[in-house]
Amino acid sequence: MFTSENLFKAKIVQLILMKEPIEAIEALSHHYCVDVPHLKVGMPKKYSKKVGCYVAKTKTIHVMNQEKLEEPFVILHEFYHHLRTRDGEHRGTEKHADKFAEEFIEAFKIYHRYSFYVSYNYKNQTT
Ligand SMILES: [Zn+2]
Repeated sequence: MFTSENLFKAKIVQLILMKEPIEAIEALSHHYCVDVPHLKVGMPKKYSKKVGCYVAKTKTIHVMNQEKLEEPFVILHEFYHHLRTRDGEHRGTEKHADKFAEEFIEAFKIYHRYSFYVSYNYKNQTT
């Protein structure tokens, strides 16, 4: 359970919770050898009802408000779409994006079982 991969995942979640989302996506991008996506507060019109989305054309992760920059589930779900986008085309499903985010949160829980509560509540609010 205490593998270095889990430690990496736990650290990413911690960075997001500690209000360092840019550092978190930089570390993720480095880890997976992809460009660093942009991070923006404010949703495009098309997704105005969602808390987070990823726009492949601009390589931008959008979140609804400042608060959502501290939600590991939202950031990691959208980062998965960035990771799975090739030539401006979305690959990978919502289900996989949820699973990707959950794996990070589960890793985090191994190390911080009693100290933090991480919400899964945004599951159906991201796109
Ligand atoms: Zn999604």
